[in-house]
Amino acid sequence: MTHMELNKRQTEILAIVKADGPITGEQIAERLTLARATIRPDLAILTMAGYLDARPRVGYFYSGKKPVQSVADSMVGMKVRDFQSIPIVVSENTSVYDAICHMFLEDVGTLFVVSGTSLLTGVLSRKDLLRTSLGNNDLDKIPVHVIMTRMPNITYCNKQDTLLHVAKKMIDKQIDSLPVVDDKGEGLEVVGRITKTNITAAFLSLSDDHEL
Ligand code: ADP
Repeated sequence: MTHMELNKRQTEILAIVKADGPITGEQIAERLTLARATIRPDLAILTMAGYLDARPRVGYFYSGKKPVQSVADSMVGMKVRDFQSIPIVVSENTSVYDAICHMFLEDVGTLFVVSGTSLLTGVLSRKDLLRTSLGNNDLDKIPVHVIMTRMPNITYCNKQDTLLHVAKKMIDKQIDSLPVVDDKGEGLEVVGRITKTNITAAFLSLSDDHEL
């Protein structure tokens, strides 16, 4: 993970404080043969980023703390595996009627359809089921494989993908969720589910972690 990039002067200040802190801003400026005012922004940045602590009448000292990660760094580091939910799957021959019941019982917006060997074959969204339900009285006779979005047209992701990558796919393809899969060679095993809700939870966790 990358941390905030320090410029040359900030790196020098940090070295001085590490070696000789506590030290006043005035003394640091003297050592660098610069004016106190010139290094004020650098000291502010180093303090805000958590590298330095400042105490009145004592001066600056090295905090010894891990530098605070920037929000951008935290965001780039967010992985599917840390935010995914349990996938809810049905088999290809499940009826549309049963799939609707399943969606309500499991309280999810998307079901994944798997073959007899548990490999991903399709996706069922709320609107897929709603569309079929309109003016159709024999929902218990229509198997979901007739109406599902099927492979190879399914957008999926892996546990180690970043949430940013997944969010981009969701927006580009205008879909609410992606199956998280494990490539088994002969097909894709469904191991998780990542939804817009998971992305929203991740967004919120950023605000908690950074006390925003
Ligand atoms: P809804 O249709 O309820 O608005 P979505 O926006 O998720 O829900 O789905 C839109 C369409 O895209 C549906 O026909 C659905 O089958 C399909 N779809 C949903 N998720 C995926 C996915 N991960 N890959 C491919 N198609 C998907």
